[in-house]
Amino acid sequence: MGDSRDRELGMHRRITRRDFINGVAVTASAAMMPWQLLGETPNEQKQGSYYPPALTGLRGSHPGSFETAHSLRDGTFWDSAGKPEDTGETYDLIIVGGGISGLAAAHFYRKTNPGARILILDNHDDFGGHAKRNEFRVGNAFRLGFGGTFSIESPAPYSAVAKALIEELGIDVPSYSKYFDKNLYRSQGLQPKVFFDKETFGVDKLAVNFTLRGSGESEDAGPRSPEALKGFLREAPIADQAKRDLQSLFEDPKDYFPGLTSGEKKAKLARISYANYLKDVARVHEDVVKFYQAQPHGWFGLGIDAVSAQDAWGLDLPGFKGLKLDPAPGKGMNRDAIPNDEAEKYFFHFPDGNATIARLLVRRLIPDAVPGNSVADIILAKADYARLDQTTSPVRIRLNSTAVRVKHLGDANAAKEVEISYARADKVYTAKAKNAILACWHVVIPYICEELPDKQKEALSSAQKVPLLYTNVAVRNWKAFEKVEASSIYAPGMYHSHVNLDLPVRIGGYECARKPDEPIVVHMMRAACHPGLPARQQHSAGRMELYTTDFETIEQKVRDQLGRIAGPGGFDPARDIAAITVNRWPHGYSYEYNSLFDSFWLEGGETPCEVARKPFGRIAIANSDAGAYAYTDEAINQAHRAVNEIGRA
Ligand SMILES: Cc1cc2nc3c(=O)[nH]c(=O)nc-3n(C[C@H](O)[C@H](O)[C@H](O)COP(=O)(O)OP(=O)(O)OC[C@H]3O[C@@H](n4cnc5c(N)ncnc54)[C@H](O)[C@@H]3O)c2cc1C
Repeated sequence: MGDSRDRELGMHRRITRRDFINGVAVTASAAMMPWQLLGETPNEQKQGSYYPPALTGLRGSHPGSFETAHSLRDGTFWDSAGKPEDTGETYDLIIVGGGISGLAAAHFYRKTNPGARILILDNHDDFGGHAKRNEFRVGNAFRLGFGGTFSIESPAPYSAVAKALIEELGIDVPSYSKYFDKNLYRSQGLQPKVFFDKETFGVDKLAVNFTLRGSGESEDAGPRSPEALKGFLREAPIADQAKRDLQSLFEDPKDYFPGLTSGEKKAKLARISYANYLKDVARVHEDVVKFYQAQPHGWFGLGIDAVSAQDAWGLDLPGFKGLKLDPAPGKGMNRDAIPNDEAEKYFFHFPDGNATIARLLVRRLIPDAVPGNSVADIILAKADYARLDQTTSPVRIRLNSTAVRVKHLGDANAAKEVEISYARADKVYTAKAKNAILACWHVVIPYICEELPDKQKEALSSAQKVPLLYTNVAVRNWKAFEKVEASSIYAPGMYHSHVNLDLPVRIGGYECARKPDEPIVVHMMRAACHPGLPARQQHSAGRMELYTTDFETIEQKVRDQLGRIAGPGGFDPARDIAAITVNRWPHGYSYEYNSLFDSFWLEGGETPCEVARKPFGRIAIANSDAGAYAYTDEAINQAHRAVNEIGRA
């Protein structure tokens, strides 16, 4: 893109990332830091100005959070690491990973061991893991965004354990409708749209979206309507043959596998991608395939080339009605693709997503770090990061600290203690504990816990995470979105495949945007997939892509995309964008088993996550990876199991 296009897009405008380099606060001060005055090890989280939720620019796995882990992976870390310094600290439990699983583990452990002393280590500058809070100020308006974990939701009902924790934290899930203004956008004439881009479809054009299925997840969600399909077929810039094919997929269902039983048909569908099913079995025009390509990004971080036709059937994508399949889930279905009414109703979105759960947990663990005492008052409560890691507190959360070695002091079966080494600010420190819970990403564990059996390490390594970008763009108003009548946009050919105006939720004194002339957060999602490759290879290519794409490149794509979608309504990216926060998650969703690539998922038997999560001596293993299920309830379930495994202090 040339300089003049860059200027038009506002690439050189000052936006609120200017005080930060790629989302890391620039702290240039020669003054004595509070930790130095106390003679403690360096701890920038004790600086008064330390407040990560307000940082913009490149967040998620921000620069500074992953380099240590990568040098461990590359085998270079210990070459330059000095001799570890013993902090002299001993705990009942050290938890690696301050996401919801690690925080929930601390909570469960304290319930059975009320006086327990716990240290939680996390490599990021904020707690919560994927459950990350983004804050924005645009003029006088304060806006929240979710940097990762979006909502309380799960394809299957929450377990008794996970539900009990949600309730114990004071979250009343069924009360969600009190806070969510479901009809706000619709009442102002906005609706879900599809953006066809000229690179993929020959022309830039917005058309009505008819594809959404019923769920509580969006104000736009609802059953597909025949009127929406008609509107789409009128407006969509796809080949006439593609329109006819699409219409017949919906209105003229065929049995492509006559003579086979329902079970035999499902077995076939489990082994063929939905893209190939559309192309080779239903024989539709390629525009139909291009249109559906990015539909499953939000579920799996993969396109239809790597999602089975059986899962597409479960997700209610078209082309299966004529097969007359019995409704029971087929063997090898992904749990996301198995419809469940009870689970679908259990939904709650906080303005900062499940960061509210992380903050409620931190408040339980370290009451003076997050002021207040109710779910309502936590929404606007400002966490005091200086209080997260105090010597006087039985629970401490130490950020910017990457665990680099976890080992028993002596033989794992007889040892009384575990020693954890962690790197922070170019130094390595050690602390000891009676037990450790590794609630971090499973792919990291083989590098930090060398004493685990090889078979277990192999299983841990197979938990390739799904790379995703959650980009939050604070815009000065949404008048242009009103003009183009779009509240959410599916953009199958573009860098971010999904663009949504923030869900209108008012809670605890927090006010969302309600009028088009008010600032709002526009949420954009990219699944960094690489169609054509097997799922795990797509994820590793996508991870590499995200680690090597700089903020400016993503900013340019954001400006270009929003300009093309909402420009016809008067949106000027140079004028209207106030701030951009790119939450980069090269290690995003937990890997979920896929019948196209994981034969064991079809055949049955022990799954890798069951091997991966086995306790070892005084070390237990949590994280949503431990259930191969990318949901908060699983992060909680696995924390609960891990705590039970290590038992009492
Ligand atoms: C973009 C995105 C959106 C999502 N949306 C939803 C949603 O709407 N609903 C839902 O239920 N789930 C969602 N999920 C899934 C989400 O992962 C889980 O819900 C849950 O937040 C996972 O918690 P966790 O503690 O298991 O893992 P994480 O949140 O990943 O926490 C693990 C932590 O361990 C840290 N760590 C790793 N290695 C080390 C080390 N060596 N030393 C120290 N720390 C380490 C990591 O950096 C991380 O902070 C989403 C995930 C992503 C990425």
